[in-house]
Amino acid sequence: MKSRYYKAEGIIIKSIKFGEGHKILTAYTKEFGRIEVTAFGSQKPKSKLANKTQLFNYVRFLLYHSHTKENEPFAVKEIEVLNYFDKIKEDYSRYIAASCIVEPVVKLIGREQQDVGIFKLILKSFYVLDVIEERKIIYLLIMYLVKLLSSMGYRFNLDLCAVCNSYLEGEIYADSFRGFPLCGRCKTANSLKLSNGAAKFISWAQNEEVFKSSKVTMELETLSNIKTALQKVYEFIFNKSLDGWKYFDNLETTANR
Ligand SMILES: [Zn+2]
Repeated sequence: MKSRYYKAEGIIIKSIKFGEGHKILTAYTKEFGRIEVTAFGSQKPKSKLANKTQLFNYVRFLLYHSHTKENEPFAVKEIEVLNYFDKIKEDYSRYIAASCIVEPVVKLIGREQQDVGIFKLILKSFYVLDVIEERKIIYLLIMYLVKLLSSMGYRFNLDLCAVCNSYLEGEIYADSFRGFPLCGRCKTANSLKLSNGAAKFISWAQNEEVFKSSKVTMELETLSNIKTALQKVYEFIFNKSLDGWKYFDNLETTANR
């Protein structure tokens, strides 16, 4: 394959230093999904690139790829910032929430798998996170985590048990080893029982846009029930835990103010 230039737009979801003044960025792009990009010289104090290559920037790249080595990252030739999301960077709760949004994208989604649905979900969530009331941030986050699963092909029918396919009447459970949703006969001793509010929220969130999180209110108990259910569902599907869960408690406290 010949050397080539590519245009791409995306959100910078990870940034690590390398060598003398360089950075390796991970971006989730509309065109290529999750990619690694080297930004030479961007770590130097006077570099014009320093500001433009910050974590959580929404950018438009001109990229270069030589195609000489396998797994070689793209290199940044030009970069234009479409949104710096200043509020996300200045506000602790927003910054933590943004980290929770990008973590599953970094850890659970394969490289270079284009998915415009996931790209739009991340981008919309960032736009909402930049302006939403602080006490609503946690609702945006749980809604995003439900919708990310839908975008990845995991949509839940809360009428039928995922194991025995029987109709779910009343009680719904989530389990890290057996899945979600489960009926009373398929649950185990470690399964979590979902409250009505939690089940309703998960169904609702699958079909609504993330900006609607600004209108959500719920009891702290329901919120905590949804969080634990999602944690089990993510563990069941990906067999991995996310660091983000531990920040939820801080955000929950904010929600109850
Ligand atoms: Zn069942």
